[in-house]
Amino acid sequence: MSGNITFTMIKPKAMENGHMGDILAKIIEGGFKVKAMKLTRLTKEEAKVFYAVHKERPFYDGLTDFMSSGPIVAAVLEKENAVQAYRDYIGATNPAEAAEGTIRALYGTNIEANAVHGSDSDENAQIEAGFFFSKRDWV
Ligand code: ATP
Ligand code: MG
Repeated sequence: MSGNITFTMIKPKAMENGHMGDILAKIIEGGFKVKAMKLTRLTKEEAKVFYAVHKERPFYDGLTDFMSSGPIVAAVLEKENAVQAYRDYIGATNPAEAAEGTIRALYGTNIEANAVHGSDSDENAQIEAGFFFSKRDWV
């Protein structure tokens, strides 16, 4: 049921700032079921592959440096209409513009270090989950 799955990462700055537990609690409180989860880190090369869709953007090098700068939590989440529900729940890309009470408003630092990632389509949710997990971990 691909429409019920999304993929998230808690980004290095939120980890460094000690927000891992609060963010996981908030995710669960929002009705998202954790189907697979790991604390890991990306190499620069892996971050470049993960964010390849942004390779022409001016922030690509900084973003991939940042995403490989420290530990992250990667997780597969399940909820009805998960991709859109989670994007609504985390708020706008820029924490300064994110709605009050959203994860990015609460725990984001700036537009790059915006606390968490959330998939933007069902197809990408499957690809991104597959980047970190074996399908048996979340199906
Ligand atoms: P994500 O894909 O992480 O869930 P998003 O879909 O809201 O976030 P995208 O446009 O896909 O936003 O950008 C991917 C990531 O690139 C953002 O989460 C942020 O970390 C970084 N980013 C986006 N825009 C900028 C920018 N103008 N300057 C610096 N970093 C940016
Ligand atoms: Mg995106």
